[in-house]
Amino acid sequence: MIIVEGLQKKFGDNEVLRDISTTITEKEVVCIIGPSGSGKSTFLRCLNLLEEVTAGVVKIGEVTVTAPKTNIDKLRQNVGMVFQQFNLFPHLTVLENIMLAPKHIKKASKAENEKQALALLDKVGLAAKKDEYPARLSGGQQQRVAIARALAMNPRVMLFDEPTSALDPEMVGEVLQVMKDLAHEGITMVVVTHEMGFAREVADRVIFMDGGYIVEQGSPAAIFDAPQHERTQAFLSKVL
Ligand code: ADP
Ligand code: MG
Repeated sequence: MIIVEGLQKKFGDNEVLRDISTTITEKEVVCIIGPSGSGKSTFLRCLNLLEEVTAGVVKIGEVTVTAPKTNIDKLRQNVGMVFQQFNLFPHLTVLENIMLAPKHIKKASKAENEKQALALLDKVGLAAKKDEYPARLSGGQQQRVAIARALAMNPRVMLFDEPTSALDPEMVGEVLQVMKDLAHEGITMVVVTHEMGFAREVADRVIFMDGGYIVEQGSPAAIFDAPQHERTQAFLSKVL
């Protein structure tokens, strides 16, 4: 589903991603962990061209993301992204937020679009909030709407960048539960997270990044119970 070969990203002289290669298969759930500044967000952003790649190849499905004439709109239809900040449109209701992108990009009929949006809201447990404005929702509810909005394009891959880091602790669980449900449905997911319990329970594979490299990767048991690399051990000793 995703192939990354020799990915490099520089901001000026700062080489943030050094030589990232990995393959993510369909339905796989990959969690990326690592210290702040290690390049996790930049890596996700390179997957859907929110950052220009310096060198290397990224392919998602049939689309070579790094080819010179990639259709960015088409790519973003296939790749849903959820950020730490929910970025809902404040002047649109919950339902309108979810219907916006399909309306403009997929040219779906209004009735069809609304039906899908309501089904997605139901999936994230917020059908009753369809006519509310984002400001009237809790952070956890807003993030669940943001997930539903990303799903509305029927993406082939969902990218999550620390989706619970901006939430009050009591709201983390409801968002992680929605993500667990998606994982069980077989949606291909790449999740940058500090929630080690979630990574252990849900990930098929855990990638530990540090200094712009994939230092180590493996099953949750391999990474959390028997990390091989000294830097992985040092990181985990601080967060577990
Ligand atoms: P992480 O998500 O692991 O905390 P990031 O990918 O956000 O790490 O950042 C990795 C490095 O890239 C940091 O040193 C950060 O300062 C730098 N960086 C990220 N985005 C930019 C940018 N737009 N311009 C310049 N430097 C950036
Ligand atoms: Mg980050």
